[in-house]
Amino acid sequence: MQNTVVILGTGGTIAAAGGDVGYTAGQLSVAQLMAAVPALAAWPIEAEQVAQLDSKDMTHEVWQRLAQRVVHHLARPEVAGVVVTHGTDTLEETAYFLHRVLAPGKPVVLTASMRPATSLQADGPQNLLDAVRVAAQPGARGVVAVLQGRVHGPVDVRKREPFALDAFDSGEAGPVALVQDHQLRLLRPWPVSQPVGPSVWERPVAEWPRVGVVASHAGVDGVAVRAMQAAGYQGLVVEGTGNGTVHAAVLEAAWQARTAGVAVWRSTRCPGGGVVGQPEGQLPSAGVLTPARARIELMLRLMAGWQGDALDAPPAG
Ligand code: ASP
Repeated sequence: MQNTVVILGTGGTIAAAGGDVGYTAGQLSVAQLMAAVPALAAWPIEAEQVAQLDSKDMTHEVWQRLAQRVVHHLARPEVAGVVVTHGTDTLEETAYFLHRVLAPGKPVVLTASMRPATSLQADGPQNLLDAVRVAAQPGARGVVAVLQGRVHGPVDVRKREPFALDAFDSGEAGPVALVQDHQLRLLRPWPVSQPVGPSVWERPVAEWPRVGVVASHAGVDGVAVRAMQAAGYQGLVVEGTGNGTVHAAVLEAAWQARTAGVAVWRSTRCPGGGVVGQPEGQLPSAGVLTPARARIELMLRLMAGWQGDALDAPPAG
């Protein structure tokens, strides 16, 4: 019977103990997290610790290992879905990475918390229970994030608040589903991905191209772009202003880098929407992708031998 849920722990505040600020993320094991949620006893659950870190320190090595463990467990016929406990800071990056390297026919559910387990406002136990519920849900599929009773898609989910409990949303797209009173209410289709194959992402991490983000802002110069080019970066995402506009000093350095063979995209720091349009003579646009997601997308495309330019086929939500 397909009903086992596997919880893969990676750390984060959900696994922290201490005050509401100034705590150390990644202290409690998955087994300890589960012990705080007696209702989880209703499901056959397995736990595995993949990493134990503050997600601000997330690495490509952890991403690769996490993807491998997800693939391993989803292939087991008795497994209904996988839950990944994670820090909130880079949850949206890990969700996007998994969405772009896997095409899960079962749910892969990331969850997190804004308060450590010892807080009076601890939100981890409810989020974990909701995440397991979604992972065990017949018909659920794809990579999603479950926080505060909302199920977010991997292209849209975004941390918008640094401290508030209700820190995540899906922007104008809205959530994929709601978890209300133990029930799942589906609002739109589960995410479907067209991933790059394992031959791309299973290669040694040391061979992954260096792709970075540089910010355009008042008073900026081209030093960061030139330094990254000199350091051998193969791709750069400019976090632009407004509709992907870029300061002249950064633009000049970016075009020089591009002429020298570095792939350069422009994105926007605006929290909603994305870069609209691709007028002649402008740097290629990252479309709807945030700078952090565009970095992952550009890296994976370079790894897959992509020779293109603009983000011609924005990933489906
Ligand atoms: N810095 C923590 C992390 O991302 C924050 C959190 O989990 O809320 O691991």
